[in-house]
Amino acid sequence: MPLAHESLPSMLWRLQREVGIYPQHASGLKTYRSLYDDPDPAALRRTAEALGLPAQVLGQHTLAGRLGETYNQLSWWDFRQPGRWACPACGHQTVWTRLVLVSACTACGILLSSKEESPTRPAPETARRVQRHYLNALVHGRLADDDRIARWWRLLSFHLCTGWPVHPESGLEPMPRGSGLGTNRELGWRNPDWIAEFAVTGWPAVETVRSFRGHIKTVATQMLAPDLAEAEPDVDVVESRKRLHRRIRAWGLAEHHIPDHVLPDGTPFDGCHAEAIGYAISRALRREVVHATTRHRPTKDELLAGRRPLRQTRELAGINQLLACDAAGVEILTRLAARLAQPGRGERIDYRHRRETLATLRTVPSSILKQLSPALRERKVPARVRANPLGRDAAAWIWIQLAGGVLHHSPHHAAARTRLRSFDRTLTPEDRLLLLEYGYEVLGAVADDVTRQHRPAAVGVEREDQADAS
Ligand SMILES: [Zn+2]
Repeated sequence: MPLAHESLPSMLWRLQREVGIYPQHASGLKTYRSLYDDPDPAALRRTAEALGLPAQVLGQHTLAGRLGETYNQLSWWDFRQPGRWACPACGHQTVWTRLVLVSACTACGILLSSKEESPTRPAPETARRVQRHYLNALVHGRLADDDRIARWWRLLSFHLCTGWPVHPESGLEPMPRGSGLGTNRELGWRNPDWIAEFAVTGWPAVETVRSFRGHIKTVATQMLAPDLAEAEPDVDVVESRKRLHRRIRAWGLAEHHIPDHVLPDGTPFDGCHAEAIGYAISRALRREVVHATTRHRPTKDELLAGRRPLRQTRELAGINQLLACDAAGVEILTRLAARLAQPGRGERIDYRHRRETLATLRTVPSSILKQLSPALRERKVPARVRANPLGRDAAAWIWIQLAGGVLHHSPHHAAARTRLRSFDRTLTPEDRLLLLEYGYEVLGAVADDVTRQHRPAAVGVEREDQADAS
């Protein structure tokens, strides 16, 4: 009666629907879902009795029953999130359907898409090849020794760490700006659609962890210094670093002149991904400055001093490597150092002082807030936000603008990040002026400083942090 490879829950649902048999009460189960993987033997026995079939026969339609000892070799990542995953075409669930690498129905070959609105379509040929290879290794108990599958999992976990999406046409794509590392990744890797797409890119073994690391460096160089991407590869990194150090000493650039967030373009409001890259660049620059002035190359721990570690990813590791070990990376640092060194020695900003002073600024007085534009004051924020979001957001905004810091090291809640982006966009030029003036007042800056570092609103698009550096 059960179809070949059909899972037990699918079989029971089919009986209910087509024949009108309801073994639910007799089996004592609320739902059949627990019968998919490795059901409780008593529940299995009761279900078998209700159907008048031997329990052994039913056991063959569960994943553990079908695989025997091999079942224990499966890891958590082999399984999808709990869900029914009935085939959108034939409606059946096979015992293999809930395994992550199975993206097509083993009965009819249709993609097990979770998108209900999309029409049924066959899975790509490569995805089905991956699936055949995987199931073959699985049923023969060779999964643990299969190099191809092991390489696949390494590549997959690498992608999950970097958060770089994969598209069938263009392959790997850099993380989109303005998205976060933690939450908004949209890597539905347990989704059959995603796995099928990943199979097309990942299975033919053209992309390896090593080639991917090179890819990260290329993309990072393009992003940070577009004209450097074609640079001659025979530039010696040791020589270019020595040259950078000589310049740093000549400029008199010191560690406290470097904000905790340095990006050639973009703003710290582009999300925590951009923030992490900006911090990585800042740290690399601080390392060179300390190395140039003290002849001692600081370690990671020394650079971290007083700062909490930021979340690390493989992508950031690639960028760190680029900045520390590649001539292109040293050239990027040289340009950024030159920008920071542009103001005369006496006029450079002491970011360390600013960070220390503004660390106590947790909110902005209501006398200032009252003068902000109505659009800003009436801005909607999620209901769960604690009291006085306007004052808190304003203080966090001042911290990022004036202390050049990252939110992670600020006295402000990191959850404010997404809110801050909309805050920044809602600001009118007058609002900006008002908040910056207040910030400078807290810093004890003399009026001259304020006017010097303040371009009139007409200059407009230029951001405060860039204005500071130029
Ligand atoms: Zn099917």
